[in-house]
Amino acid sequence: MTERTLTGTGATPRSGVGTVVWYSPDADRPNPDEADVDPEAERRRFADARETARSELEAERERTAERVGEQEAEIFDAHLQFLADPQIEDGVEDAIADGLPAEHAVQRAFADPIEQFEGMGGRTAERADDLRDVRDRLVRVLAGSDRIDLGELPEGAVVLAERLTPSDTARLDPDRVAGFATVTGGRTSHAAIFARSLALPAVVSVGDDLHDVAEGATVVVDGEAGELVVEPRDERREAARATHDVEIRERPVTTADGTEIEVAANVGRPAELEGAKAQGADGVGLYRTEFLFLDREAPPDEDEQYEAYLEALEAFPEGRVVVRTLDVGGDKPIPYLELPEEENPFLGQRGIRRSLGPDADLFETQLRALLRAAADGEGQLAVMFPLVTTPEELTDALETVSAIADALDEEGVDYAIPELGVMIETPGAVFTAPELADQVDFFSIGTNDLTQYVMAAARENERVAELREPRHPAVLRAIARTVEAAHEHGAWIGMCGEMAGDPELTDLLVGLGLDELSMSAVTVPEVKAAVQAVDAEDAAERASGALEAATCAQAIERIESEAADR
Ligand code: PEP
Ligand code: MG
Repeated sequence: MTERTLTGTGATPRSGVGTVVWYSPDADRPNPDEADVDPEAERRRFADARETARSELEAERERTAERVGEQEAEIFDAHLQFLADPQIEDGVEDAIADGLPAEHAVQRAFADPIEQFEGMGGRTAERADDLRDVRDRLVRVLAGSDRIDLGELPEGAVVLAERLTPSDTARLDPDRVAGFATVTGGRTSHAAIFARSLALPAVVSVGDDLHDVAEGATVVVDGEAGELVVEPRDERREAARATHDVEIRERPVTTADGTEIEVAANVGRPAELEGAKAQGADGVGLYRTEFLFLDREAPPDEDEQYEAYLEALEAFPEGRVVVRTLDVGGDKPIPYLELPEEENPFLGQRGIRRSLGPDADLFETQLRALLRAAADGEGQLAVMFPLVTTPEELTDALETVSAIADALDEEGVDYAIPELGVMIETPGAVFTAPELADQVDFFSIGTNDLTQYVMAAARENERVAELREPRHPAVLRAIARTVEAAHEHGAWIGMCGEMAGDPELTDLLVGLGLDELSMSAVTVPEVKAAVQAVDAEDAAERASGALEAATCAQAIERIESEAADR
């Protein structure tokens, strides 16, 4: 057999090798004969199916909360809501009254809502996928077809599918399954996000060629290159297996020519600290504190936050823990804060804008907890502010820090001023970087937001996904300009957006002059290995080549061909 390579989009920087199991939930769906339909019986079948689907969803929610995380499990709450939606129920009822069997009635009742969500664009359009997920579940239950149980796949299975839903992906056991590949999907699809959380090799968006891969074939899922290799040669197979045992480097690493680069983890919940340590992170480069505020009725008080920050410092007594103050608004609503409905929330009151406005009390409480933790914790605390656009905002935030310090002083409470920094996520911050750097100890570039704002392409909108490319010369130049301003003004500079976790870009980022890279824990080992392979001086020269590219395609070509030459 000859080796064949299909190309898609890599979702997780992991490779796996295994045997193809095709997963087609719809394959054995019967096509009931409409002439024989008894509406009363169909109504009962639908009610029973809905009950079964509800129990399944509740069980899957619980399993996902345990295995992946509470935040990821919330997707099933949305599914449960759709399942109980009275409009959909009415739609099914009407269709059954029109003489359709329950399976077809479900298909018809979901068609309009799916189309409506798709038409809305942005994040709302993603809800269409959730609706499809619920629809397919109901149809499967109605058809009585036992799909392959994704939770019970044989050891070493590679799942191939048209698409996988969040529920499907959460069922895959990363200890047994070698990976998956899908015809459709994107890097930010739920399936891809879950795959990353589970460190499961995955390639999405392979296209129709995937259908030519036979059940039982041996394949390598190369989630790093975004390739599915069918009937791989022995070397390829071995290489894929080898990457499973990626070496954990517990100590800070340097480039081949001795430049120290801090490689830290992004965390959102205390429970993630263990994983970050296990993957050898030097510290925490981004603690997204909004997760401490989610899934509850009221915000955590000062003491609860103080304990959470101390816990992070204790996890990394020799490292640095960068805590970001509350970053809500945009795509991160918190129900009890009653955020206003905004026409364009990504350009509205989010991040520091809320902390200096309606959430000033929360900001002060958080700063009190942080300043106390800075005094009492073992490791080194750093605090940064999200979505800063102007030097004045930063001045105001820093004045609040001083006022809190004075208040704690007066009260006789121990406190210390941590390192203070600012996230660079807006063009405004890039262009005023010298003035910002004058006021702080460090910067951290949030490329997720910076890319969306530089390229005017909303973060979750798949229609403009191509524009949202962090390797675009416009974004690279924004990064380079910020690094220069930071260093000229004596500040260190890190990056905590998704871009930092791509080991293929480590050479470029070191070449651009970043001092620290922070990422989801799963990619820490690969990025540490990539750092050790970099020659910083050569990398700087290669980075200037990419910066001078006239087009995005040219920049990508330069970055990729340089990577291939190394
Ligand atoms: C970013 O914008 O790159 C970032 C790290 O912040 P978040 O993803 O939490 O908006
Ligand atoms: Mg951001």
